[in-house]
Amino acid sequence: MEGSIVKRLVSNDGETKKFLFKLKDGQTVESVLMKCKHGHTICISTQVGCKMNCAFCVTGKSGFSRNLTPEEMSLQIEKIQNSENIKITCVVLMGMGEPFDNYENVLKFLEYAIDSKGLDIEAKRITISTCGLVDKIYKLAEFNSQFNLAVSLHATVDEVRNELMKINKKWNISELLKACKYYTELTDKSILFEYIMINKLNDSNEDANRLAKLLEGIKCRVDLIPANDSGQEQFKPSTQNQINSFVSILRENGIDVSVRGTVGGDIKAACGQLRAEVI
Ligand code: SF4
Repeated sequence: MEGSIVKRLVSNDGETKKFLFKLKDGQTVESVLMKCKHGHTICISTQVGCKMNCAFCVTGKSGFSRNLTPEEMSLQIEKIQNSENIKITCVVLMGMGEPFDNYENVLKFLEYAIDSKGLDIEAKRITISTCGLVDKIYKLAEFNSQFNLAVSLHATVDEVRNELMKINKKWNISELLKACKYYTELTDKSILFEYIMINKLNDSNEDANRLAKLLEGIKCRVDLIPANDSGQEQFKPSTQNQINSFVSILRENGIDVSVRGTVGGDIKAACGQLRAEVI
């Protein structure tokens, strides 16, 4: 057996559940189950830990152990479906790890996920999230998939993005957005840009205007994520006023934007919190 569920935590509102899996070599990963309009969404891990070391992310802080196999990705879905007696309809590769840093295994998992004899999940209900591995964005585009791509942008100038995300020193904002544009043109899919709203770091009106300019001509949607209070002093969430102002500026510029609710915060299942605590 590749692994099993060893712990299950439920948020106060009962809407979010976090599962801790123990793999056959004793390593642990987490998955998060949420209700969504299409049924049940699962956020799965693709690596034990992560090499990318994004400054705001607790997973990155715990270092990297190893890649997950395609079977270990599938088992997170199969075990949760069985134990909760549900059919999972949507999958997001947004848990522990950078999916594109484990590209070949992730691709094998995706093939099994969409196979009617496998997990039988529609490709259009699967989202791969990346911090910006540009070479793999081109590769996935050429695979011409119907998978959704989510890109963590989090800043509008390289100076700030370099500070938040080391990957920006390899591929900067301009190179990243060029690849994103290529992805949308080749696949005709819209990209979801994730943008963590951090108080006084990346949330000014100038940032909002710059973001609108940067995204001009790219088929996309922006998901603003108020930074969660994971105890890191320098990454406090933006004020509600600043979030409202940011949203208004993007909308005035014709950008489709939403603000993500802080799901599962009480069980540390929110973005950047996986593996925050050893359960
Ligand atoms: S945000 Fe994602 S890519 Fe960055 S360190 Fe965390 S898990 Fe890795």
